[in-house]
Parts: sequence; structure tokens; C-alpha cells
Amino acid sequence: MRARRVLIGLSGALLGAALSAQAPVSDVDAHIAAAKAAAGLDYRATFVNLCFPGANPALANPAAAPARGAAPPGGRAAAGGRGAAATPDRATWYASPYKVFDNFYWLGTRQHSSWALRTSEGLIIIDTNFAWATEPEIIDGLTALGLDPRQIKYVVISHAHGDHDQGAAELQKRFGAKVVMGAADWESTLQRPATAAGGVPTRDMVVGPAGMKLTLGDTTIDIVSTPGHTPGTLSYVFPVKDQGRTVVVAYSGGTLTGAFGTNAARWDEYIASQQRIAQAAAGAGATVLLSNHSEYDNAYTKARLIAAKREAGEDHPFVVGAAGVQRYFTVMTECATASKLRVGAK
Ligand SMILES: [Zn+2]
Repeated sequence: MRARRVLIGLSGALLGAALSAQAPVSDVDAHIAAAKAAAGLDYRATFVNLCFPGANPALANPAAAPARGAAPPGGRAAAGGRGAAATPDRATWYASPYKVFDNFYWLGTRQHSSWALRTSEGLIIIDTNFAWATEPEIIDGLTALGLDPRQIKYVVISHAHGDHDQGAAELQKRFGAKVVMGAADWESTLQRPATAAGGVPTRDMVVGPAGMKLTLGDTTIDIVSTPGHTPGTLSYVFPVKDQGRTVVVAYSGGTLTGAFGTNAARWDEYIASQQRIAQAAAGAGATVLLSNHSEYDNAYTKARLIAAKREAGEDHPFVVGAAGVQRYFTVMTECATASKLRVGAK
């Protein structure tokens, strides 16, 4: 596969003419080229993981990754999060919390991100993390930043995989936070055994295909239904303040396409979802692109750059501009289209 791609890359026009029966191969290459151009230097990991999923067996089938519910920090999501999860060596994952915008805080490990949005009526946590990160990163992180975990009113979960949702039940139980999740992901979550890592949250707010606006005090999150990575994946568009100025964030809730196989409907659903969130982001003037994996948005690196001196003309490290936001979703759309063609999905 790799050799064929290189060959076509070297003499694409020539081969394309000679092997017109294999036109789909050059179609695949055209979409990969479009994704690569959109990725530029900013979104290399998203490009590689989505356009070449076969390079890593765990990526090709996340559900088959070892250590379900207790994936090592660099590993893939554990579907469901079953079984008690041992805490990995802290030296491999711990990161200090950072204030990223006036009212927006990063509470991630070096691999996975959780965020706090501060409103006039309390806090919204966007994604949690593995259960073992709830206390050191979210609860202690908020406290270290001068915020009160008892002010958590909502926990919004982008999708029901253990690396993003295992903290939800604990925050719900301890602080009375309402958990918000896509309808289909609630269904899979509620099927987990009571012994699942982090426990099982009680169903609070269910987001259907039409999405919803979640308002707390002075802040509204536009929750966009983006099924694909999981059937209930949610993505978001919301405003934050940068030194008093409003900046709009687009948040990509689910990334990998590995398990779709030849099911064209699933590929099409994923692609339509990326187009939907891209459109919502454009409509709201989003200039910040976030993910729940630092691998995709460089959140851990950028969070530490907030305090660094900015050269003349340099913007806030998380601001990539409206075109930069759109390029991210172009990478997702083009790679998914290439992968769908490559596997011969029908
Ligand atoms: Zn996932």
C-alpha cells in the first residue's frame, strides 16, 4: 500500500492514465493530498491518524485496544471503561492546570484534555478524563486555579469513551453536576456494569440529533450533534473572553474513524457531521480549534505558552483564525473521504 502510494505520488499523471481501471486509487490520493494541504504544519497528527489509520492497529480498531478502561496515557480510548483501572505512573501523564482565557481553564493530562468554562452562574466542565485523573487534574486543578469544584453545574461529555467520560459519575455524585451526553452515548453508558471505572452516571440531560443550546448564566454553548466517532458524539461552539474580548471556540468532540469498515452509511454520517460543525463554527466566527486530545490540538504545549512573551503580531497561542479552524475540519472530511474510498465502502 505504502509503495503504491509513493509510486503514484512520483508519477501520478502517467500512472493515472495507464491504469484508468484503478481510478479510485488516484481519487484516494487526491483526497489525501487535499487533507495534507489543509493540515499544513498545524494538524499533522490528525492528518496521519485519520488518513493512514492502518499504520497503527490500535487506531484501526480502537475497541480492540488492550487494557480496556485503563489504557495507558498515550493509548487509545477504552470503549466503555470496564473494570477497575490502575493509575498509570504519574510521571508519564501529570500536567499542571492552566488558565487559558479569562474564563476558560485547561485541566488535562499531557494526553487528554478536560476544560472548565466559568460563567456568571457556575462552572461547566467539558469532557472529563480517565477516572484516575478526576481528583488530581479536575478537582485539585480547579482548586489550584482558585475555582471551587462545588460550583460545577454541568459536565458535558463529547462522547462515551473512557478517556473522556470516566470522571462524569464522580462529579455528578460529589457536586450535583448535571451530566450532558448524546442520546446514543447515554444508551451505551447506561449498559456499563456498576463496577466500571469511575462508576456509571445517572441520566440527566440528553442531546438528540438536533443538538441543543446549553445556557448557564451569561454563557451559552451551542451543542452540535456530530455522530460518527461514536453514535452520540457531540461537538461544540462557544464564546470565551481573551482580555475582555470575545473569542469563539470550535470544539471537535470525536476524531477517529477506524471501526467503520465498509459501512458507507457510517462514513457518510461522520463526513456530514464534520461539515455540520464546520458550518456552525464558521457561522459563529470561531477562531480557536480545540479537541479532547492534545495530540490533535497541541493543548498541553499551547497552555504552557500562554505565559510566554508574545512577539509583535503573535496572537494568543490557541487562536488559529477562522481559516485555521476550517482547515481542521477539512482534514477530517478529506481523510474520511479517502479512507471510505480506500476500503471500498458501499
Ligand atoms: Zn473516543
